[in-house]
Amino acid sequence: MYYKDNTLIYFDGEFVNANEASTNLYSQTLHYGYGVFEGIRAYATESGTQIFKVKEHYDRLKNSAELINIPFDYEVQELVDVTYELLKRNNLTDAYVRPLVFCDPNMALARPNKVSIMICAWEWGAYLGDQQLRLTVSSYCRPHPRSIKIDAKVCGHYVNSILATNEAKDNGYDEALLLDSDGYLAEGPGANLFFEKDGVLYTPQLGNILPGITRATVLELAEELRVEVKQGLYKPEVLLSADSAFYCGTAAEVIGIESVNDKKFRKDWNDSLGKKLQEVYSQLVRKSEKTLNTTYQ
Ligand code: PMP
Repeated sequence: MYYKDNTLIYFDGEFVNANEASTNLYSQTLHYGYGVFEGIRAYATESGTQIFKVKEHYDRLKNSAELINIPFDYEVQELVDVTYELLKRNNLTDAYVRPLVFCDPNMALARPNKVSIMICAWEWGAYLGDQQLRLTVSSYCRPHPRSIKIDAKVCGHYVNSILATNEAKDNGYDEALLLDSDGYLAEGPGANLFFEKDGVLYTPQLGNILPGITRATVLELAEELRVEVKQGLYKPEVLLSADSAFYCGTAAEVIGIESVNDKKFRKDWNDSLGKKLQEVYSQLVRKSEKTLNTTYQ
């Protein structure tokens, strides 16, 4: 599913066949989840393949590594160039790109001396945007920011996301909604949350959530649409009395939420601010670079 016989990946300075690439079983990343990664999307546009906010994603990768003491000796621009080359060599246009920085063999609980980077990509077709999620508030909370670096996209953090997703699916829901350790709304296992009430958008403030690049884009788009957005700490009851809600993230873009714990939102998704933002986000990511630069600088 992720690669075929002729798929190439970028691995420590070279393009190698995905089938032939291998790693060491004593890596600190494999044992302790001590590594960082990104999730990026490329889109076919009128001026060729464009990787959306690619620099922001590699800046976050670098920041994630530095926050957890993993040496990051790569130039962001070099990684951007390599990613375009990777897509070209694999004949990919609409694609998901996954860079991973992982550590050398070391069983100690210490910072690594040497790390590796791999970047792979696979086809990711157009998403129709008509699905709406049935959420459940998770019994798992997001990790406390004094236990981990919540701003970093660290491999090990995703055990929390997997547990919450498994629980939600086992209970018959599409997706989980996680609170922070004080019981305030936080985020999804892999997406940020927005909700609408009386024409105003609300989103959990930074501090207990991953600072999503899509979240930042939605904030920019809302400003352009002159939609007021408030960021703060909100209890789940506030969400349950909202008019509509959505998740946003690189993979899902903007996706409507139908219900939380079986309580449906009163507003039709098609009339919501989320639907409008879904449309403008979808247009933005599929715009040619030329148009992008004139609109967003
Ligand atoms: N929160 C979590 C926990 C995530 O894993 C993701 C996906 N990276 C997001 C939010 C959304 O972030 P982005 O918009 O940068 O993809």
